[in-house]
Amino acid sequence: MNLTLEPKAIRAAVAKLKFRTQAFIDGKFVKALSGKTFPTENPATGKPLAQIAACEEPDVDRAVMAARRAFASGAWSRQRPADRKQFLLKFADLLEANAGELALLDTLEAGKPIGDCATMDIPDTIHCIRWHAEAIDKLYSHVAPTGPENLALILREPIGVVGCVVPWNFPAQMVAWKIGPALATGNSVVLKPAELTSLSALRMAELAAEAGLPAGVFNVVPGFGETAGQAIGRHMDVNMVAFTGSTEVGRCFLKYSAESNLKRIILECGGKSPQVVFADAPDLEAVANNAVSAAFWNMGENCSCGSRLIVHKTIKDDLLARIASLAKTWKVGDPLDPRNRLGALIEKAHLEKVLGYIAAGEAEGAKRVFGGKRILEKTGGYFVEATIFDEVNNRMKIAREEIFGPVLSVISFSTEEEAVAIANDTNYGLAASLYTRDLSTAHRVARAIRAGTVSVNCFSEGDITTPFGGFKESGFAGRDKSLWAHEQYTELKTIWMQLA
Ligand code: NDP
Repeated sequence: MNLTLEPKAIRAAVAKLKFRTQAFIDGKFVKALSGKTFPTENPATGKPLAQIAACEEPDVDRAVMAARRAFASGAWSRQRPADRKQFLLKFADLLEANAGELALLDTLEAGKPIGDCATMDIPDTIHCIRWHAEAIDKLYSHVAPTGPENLALILREPIGVVGCVVPWNFPAQMVAWKIGPALATGNSVVLKPAELTSLSALRMAELAAEAGLPAGVFNVVPGFGETAGQAIGRHMDVNMVAFTGSTEVGRCFLKYSAESNLKRIILECGGKSPQVVFADAPDLEAVANNAVSAAFWNMGENCSCGSRLIVHKTIKDDLLARIASLAKTWKVGDPLDPRNRLGALIEKAHLEKVLGYIAAGEAEGAKRVFGGKRILEKTGGYFVEATIFDEVNNRMKIAREEIFGPVLSVISFSTEEEAVAIANDTNYGLAASLYTRDLSTAHRVARAIRAGTVSVNCFSEGDITTPFGGFKESGFAGRDKSLWAHEQYTELKTIWMQLA
């Protein structure tokens, strides 16, 4: 389905949607063995959308067995890379042909603005699958520099059955970030979507099968973290888990691994990303635009959200005035209306958590200069105004904890040393931005900030060609995106030969 970004066309497309609600195991949709289901709701209305199969340990076991059988058969794992490429390119074509539908599913379930889903999330999802597909038949292994009596091959082999446990903030895109490199390198996958957003993942599994991926290669087990997620983490026949979500649950996966089969664990966790603006920043209006996007895009439900704006004291008031004036143009409302730039927060409990942080900011003495209230309550949805706090210091709760909402904290500094110290004074280290006209300052500060991605004179996570992941409590072991993502889904093997 192609989607015209116009309210009437969007309403008509929503009316035609069909939801896939069962688990996708071994190439087909199946009920959970217990027959249990759970509701998924639209956070913009608070109303249920569908009942989804609630997978538990026996369902995960069934999916892992299917994935193992597929892996052992070699139907995917030992395909020529050029053939895997063709299947994945077909999968990407089918995603593209159904892009409008996938965008609507993510908007309906996650409350994300349709404009973002249709023009960013889903195109990036498709591009991610294509990029990894295109890469896979262009990678060479190594021959070690041994003596003439030996030949040593250093090969990368698929790791086996990969568990992927993903969050709700970029439902389709997070699936692609995991399965793109995992499938391209020849693994079988068992994926658990967030319980709040299962619909696009289930549709993607169906489209992968339609593209010709052998049964069992890509399975989706919707369900709860404590049950389905934990069963993947503890399964003795899962070789690795790639996880994106909170640091707290990331720690659980390390524990599951230690207490089961020492499966490889790759974690992409949260952040408290700094945006450092020096007095010589090139164009304050452009900085303001970037700062607003960094803080409010995706309702701040973004692991690389630039939630701490660290500004030189001489330009702080000027920048803040520009940001507040731009924030007014970020209209909050029905995510299906393409004019709105902010949709609903994911669920009621999360809305309350975000409002709790706003109250904590005020209680600790930060000065609220914009927004701060729940709005559009009559819709039944979970909407909050974009919110800006001035006069924040880095010890306050709003500057230390990941809010995962549209709340920007403004902190001022006097010297470069102080700016770097504030930027690094956090348990997290996922992303950072800095703004300066001076090349030396840019290099020095980019190196001094402890974060996986530092963007200069922009706010960016890079693109598919660059690795993404965090330092400190923002990540563990691997990276999403780029060829570095391939490494995490493969084992390194040495074949050592004695020559006659
Ligand atoms: P979680 O870390 O709780 O969830 C991420 C995934 O892990 C989901 O699929 C979840 O399932 C699963 N999970 C939850 N608990 C367990 C468990 N005990 N064992 C195995 N799997 C589990 O993130 P939330 O969605 O609850 O969000 C909470 C906070 O995490 C946010 O407010 C934000 O601060 C941070 N977060 C960070 C993200 C990032 O991109 N780095 C993304 C999302 C959240 P289920 O959905 O059933 O809970």
